[in-house]
Amino acid sequence: MRCPYCRHPDSRVVDSREADDGQLIRRRRSCPECGRRFTTVEEAVLAVVKRSGVTEPFSRTKIISGVRKACQGRPVDDDALAVLAQRVEEAVRARGAAEVPSHDVGLAILGPLRELDEVAFLRFASVYKSYDSLEDFEQEIAALRADRAEGPTGGSVSVPAAPAATPPEGAPRVAAATR
Ligand SMILES: [Zn+2]
Repeated sequence: MRCPYCRHPDSRVVDSREADDGQLIRRRRSCPECGRRFTTVEEAVLAVVKRSGVTEPFSRTKIISGVRKACQGRPVDDDALAVLAQRVEEAVRARGAAEVPSHDVGLAILGPLRELDEVAFLRFASVYKSYDSLEDFEQEIAALRADRAEGPTGGSVSVPAAPAATPPEGAPRVAAATR
């Protein structure tokens, strides 16, 4: 890693520690040329592939802003949205693939959102699954009711099962990047 102070092309790692529950590694580095120290953060890149084929880094902020629209006027606070985004990220990362279709990210949102607020879930699902008739809503509501009847806590709602992910041929399972 190049020294940000003197641009010396090399540096020495003096300390490494995990942060954000193992999601990140922070390295303290020392420049052999000018002796100054700096920190680098290493994180496995998780790319979301949009329908257009364009990829962009997974972003909890984007998850939150998407879900927040569906939560307008609902008793869902920012903390709950942050937890939801974290759960979505964990579900998506658990697939072990470095690239995830945006459609699958949407699927991973549905489960946690349904637990959080059923009205917001219906709004989100209606756009996401592009309901085009009252029957679509009726079916979804019937499914919600059926789950509710199963138990006092509303039944367990699971994140849609991810198929065993296999990375594309030749692709590393996790791409490392530094920033
Ligand atoms: Zn330096």
